[in-house]
Amino acid sequence: MVVDPPGVPATGPATDPAVYAVPLRTRFRGASVREGMVWRGASGWAEFAPFADYDAAASVAWWRAAVEAADVGWPAPVRDSVPVNCIVPAVAPDRASALVLSGHGCRTAKVKVAERGQSLTDDLARVEAVRAALGPGGRVRIDANGAWGVDEAVTALRELDRAAGGLEYVEQPCASVEDLARLRRRTHVLVAADESIRRSDDPYRVRALDAADVVVLKVAPLGGVRACLELAARIDLPVVVSSALETSVGLAAGLALAAALPDLPYACGLGTATLLSRDLTAAPLVPVDGRLAVRTVEVDTDLLAAARAGGPVAERWTRRLAAVRALAATDTVPPARQDQGP
Ligand SMILES: [Mg+2]
Repeated sequence: MVVDPPGVPATGPATDPAVYAVPLRTRFRGASVREGMVWRGASGWAEFAPFADYDAAASVAWWRAAVEAADVGWPAPVRDSVPVNCIVPAVAPDRASALVLSGHGCRTAKVKVAERGQSLTDDLARVEAVRAALGPGGRVRIDANGAWGVDEAVTALRELDRAAGGLEYVEQPCASVEDLARLRRRTHVLVAADESIRRSDDPYRVRALDAADVVVLKVAPLGGVRACLELAARIDLPVVVSSALETSVGLAAGLALAAALPDLPYACGLGTATLLSRDLTAAPLVPVDGRLAVRTVEVDTDLLAAARAGGPVAERWTRRLAAVRALAATDTVPPARQDQGP
């Protein structure tokens, strides 16, 4: 028997879970294809798409988020649109500039830095190109995915802040919460915690150690919209909602969280649908003038058929889902953890 999340009556999929496999436009997290499962429950469409390196224990939160979407639905929105950022992977300056200029009117850009095999010089050139493309009114934030040591981060931030003409914040500059706290006392750049929230056994350590100014929340790895709202209320720091590179089905859950948060002072990382080469809905969640209108998403039968995977891929996902459901039936599941993402 599956043990449901608190207050969540899992009635199970109304439609059989369908496995999709969609090529990415740019490699992300070492992958060139995004895979997952979608199904429709009484409340709407759900996506279950833990990354390949998530084991069953770490995937239970993703399952709970999917059950919430399918069988429960989400809390009422308090706003009708959400500002989003465009995303600039660790690409060359001309490509970075082009991504910002074709960024659906987004006035905030998130730039990946500290990529393995690249140097600070590469990061400075990319950030300068992004600032030039955005113009003086835009906001530039960077994401180091925990790659820097504290001293290295102090130096890099001084230079990158200058190249950006002022950074909005740096996301996960160092890997550990302790190092985030140390760094925060040595830089005026605001620090956002991402992996330190969802990879941690105790996301509240970020608050206890005064280690961040902002927290990044992702619905699926944190177990659903309600779980994130509760976390946001308890941690009492400004929240940026980000995606886990889902199709528009999964993005809709992030959009529901962003729409329901009492305060939303920053653009959210939910403009990632265009990183996938195709979507499962005829009306993808693509920003217009830098914003996503708050709405639900319905899967298009033909588009799902076109993206559908069979054979060994479908069998692998069926086994993953079965393992996660079996584990969710026990009460020994550790909190969400692992990964880096958009
Ligand atoms: Mg991040």
